[in-house]
Amino acid sequence: MRFTSNLREQMRKSKTSTIKSSLTDNHRRVLIKKATKLFKEKLFGVNANKVNIQVIDSRLVRDFPSNANGWAIVIEPEYYQIALCHKYRHTDREVVSTLAHEFGHIQQYMSGDLIVEEGKGITWRGALFPQESFRNSIVAQWHMRPWEIHADSVRDFLLDTYSDQLL
Ligand SMILES: [Zn+2]
Repeated sequence: MRFTSNLREQMRKSKTSTIKSSLTDNHRRVLIKKATKLFKEKLFGVNANKVNIQVIDSRLVRDFPSNANGWAIVIEPEYYQIALCHKYRHTDREVVSTLAHEFGHIQQYMSGDLIVEEGKGITWRGALFPQESFRNSIVAQWHMRPWEIHADSVRDFLLDTYSDQLL
């Protein structure tokens, strides 16, 4: 989860989950599709069908930051988008782990725990982390951000439940 308006704009324009065909890509596409279905059902239960999540495999997003494997953003209320970075050769476990982590952020957006306000900062469970704090405080470190720690716990929960079916 990051906030980069340029990326967000590109993703708005990217309507489809475009993946050029090859055997490897087809395998990856099937894996992502299956995992998305399972994760939605697990996290949102009977409401799964009402939750709009578009998953794109973002080979086409040119400025995907080199150190990020995925993103989750709110496109508009009730409509979310996950992007997975397809620049590198990821193992199945890496793909599924990234997807599961991003589902953690979707859950946070839906519950209101996580609110991203571009130019202002991030609100986590009512506490504002101003944009400038990302340079000079504890949350400057990605792995110390409470929403990332929480998203990792959601990831572990989903993988514990589904690794047998997916991997
Ligand atoms: Zn994250």
